[in-house]
Amino acid sequence: MKKKIIIAGPCALESREQMLITIEEAKRTAVDYVRLSLWKPRTKPGFEGIGEEGIPLLVEAAKRGVHPGVEPLIPEHAKRVADAVLNATDDGKLLLWIGARNQNHMIQREMAKVAAQSSRITLMAKNQIWHNEKHWEGIIDHIMEAGIDKSQVWLCHRGFAPTPSQTNLYGYRNIPDYEMTMKIRKQSGLPMLFDPSHTGGNVENVIRITKEANQYDFDGYIVEVHPHPKQAVTDAEQQLTWTEFRTLLKDIKER
Ligand code: PEP
Ligand code: MN
Repeated sequence: MKKKIIIAGPCALESREQMLITIEEAKRTAVDYVRLSLWKPRTKPGFEGIGEEGIPLLVEAAKRGVHPGVEPLIPEHAKRVADAVLNATDDGKLLLWIGARNQNHMIQREMAKVAAQSSRITLMAKNQIWHNEKHWEGIIDHIMEAGIDKSQVWLCHRGFAPTPSQTNLYGYRNIPDYEMTMKIRKQSGLPMLFDPSHTGGNVENVIRITKEANQYDFDGYIVEVHPHPKQAVTDAEQQLTWTEFRTLLKDIKER
């Protein structure tokens, strides 16, 4: 069985202390990329991430030997992060992802152009919020048309927003469509990761939905893990502790 790609870390990078604990735990847990996001898309105004001020913390994380992952909201963010993080080490890698709320063709193309500048960058595209196969295919088409190498692109399923008439037995925050996801994975030939955090929406559901998704051929998982989930500034309900995450990983690996 092929090794799964594992991305883990807090919903948002909140402080240097949180980053230092996170990277030590991430090293112990052998994760491939550490989520350390600086900009948070928000439904209503509130904490929007620590923003550019956090770039030196990503540089420090890279120097301490982990590969950071960030969701830039605009291509300018991506450029700034890429310049700083790639210059910090000779061979460190960087993950940039485009979030569900930010799926428009200009962002997709411009972000892909930034990522294409270095083979040390991987660009991951999440599906859009609403349930629509054509739109999801379009995300991939726009990204590939920007001229990025296929080896630098990953996809991620984070479920689709539930509609009022849909059955939602466990109260998932977003509802997965595994059949559509596996079809897109096959036709694109790109690795497909799964995000149990933004589908599940709370710890119990994150654990449940990871086991559910594990029945399908996902190439990896991106999971929100926080040193002190109850104190998290964003998405406190769905973040796992590192101990909970290591237990969950055993399920993933035993597949
Ligand atoms: C995230 O991964 O931080 C995020 C905001 O998720 P999504 O774009 O899937 O809502
Ligand atoms: Mn989150």
